[in-house]
Amino acid sequence: MILVPTAGIEQHKNEFYKKTSKLLSDFLENQHINNPTDFDDIYYYFYDTSGNKKKDQFKKLLIGSRNDLKSIITDIKVLYGTDLETKLSSMNKLYKKFTSSVLGKKWFELAGIETCPYCNRAYVFTLKNESVRPEYDHYYPKSKYPFLCISMYNLVPSCGLCNRLKGPIDTYDEGERVIYPFEEEFGYDVFFKLDPPQNGNLSDLYDLNKNLTLKIENSSSLIPMKKYYENSIDKFRLLKLYSKHSEHITNIRKLTQIYTKDYLESLAKNNAFINDVDEAKNLVYLSHLNKNEWHKSILSKFTHDLIEQLSK
Ligand SMILES: [Zn+2]
Repeated sequence: MILVPTAGIEQHKNEFYKKTSKLLSDFLENQHINNPTDFDDIYYYFYDTSGNKKKDQFKKLLIGSRNDLKSIITDIKVLYGTDLETKLSSMNKLYKKFTSSVLGKKWFELAGIETCPYCNRAYVFTLKNESVRPEYDHYYPKSKYPFLCISMYNLVPSCGLCNRLKGPIDTYDEGERVIYPFEEEFGYDVFFKLDPPQNGNLSDLYDLNKNLTLKIENSSSLIPMKKYYENSIDKFRLLKLYSKHSEHITNIRKLTQIYTKDYLESLAKNNAFINDVDEAKNLVYLSHLNKNEWHKSILSKFTHDLIEQLSK
C-alpha cells in the first residue's frame, strides 16, 4: 500500500471542481423538479430555500478531504436512514457522465499517477484517446454512498484486480476499513520479510539453495492502524499474490550478494553518470527505492524491504 502523490491532484483541483460542480448542480436541480420525494432532502443539503447553491457544501463534497466526506456520510445517513441506497442510487448517473467527459478520461494522468497504490504490482497509465486509464476505485463505495461517486478524494486510481477485490466493503465502518491511500500507507510499519526454513538459521537467508518463506510483518503499535493494515493485507490478498513473485525474490537475493555496499559505493564514485549510492541502487534494481518515490514503479516497496533485510 503506497501513498498516492497529491501534488498533481491539488494543482488541478479547481478544474476538477469547475467540471464536477456543473454535473452535480444540473443533476440535483433536475431531480428537485422531477423526483422531489427522493431527492429533496439531499437537494436542501446543497441548496438554500431560495434555490441558491451552498458553495461550501459543494466544495466539501467534490474536492473535500476524507474527513469532509466522512462528515457528509454521517449527515446524509441521518437524512435518509436505511432508504439511502435505494432513494439515491440514480446519483450513479453522475459517475457515468464524469467518466465519459474529457476530464474523467484524463484525470489520473493530470494527477500524475503511475502505479496502483493498493498493490504496487501494476502500472496504471492513461492513454486518453485510446480509452486506457486506471480504474476509479471509490474508497467509500458508490453502491452504498452514491452521492460520493464523483468526489475527487473518493476516486482512488486502482488496477482492475484491486478494484474487484476491494468490492463494496463499507470503509465508513472502522472495523472493515482498509488503508486510505491519499493519506495512509504501509510505510515502514508494515514490511515484507523472508523467513529461513523451519529449524534453519539466519545464514540460510544468504544461501541461494535454501527456500525462504515470504511474510508480511505488521509492526504498528497503534491499535486502529494495525487493524486497517491487517484488513488491507487480507482484502487485497497481498501475501498470497506477492509470494507468486518468487523469481523476483530470487533475483533480489542474488543481486544483494553481488552488489555489496562497497561495490555500490565504488560504482557511484567511478561513474560520471551515477550521482550517488541511492541512484546506483535504483539502477541495479530497476526500481525507485526511496520511500517518496515508491509510487513511481511497481514492486518498489517490496524490493526496498527485501534489500533492507538482505544487504550486508
Ligand atoms: Zn492493484
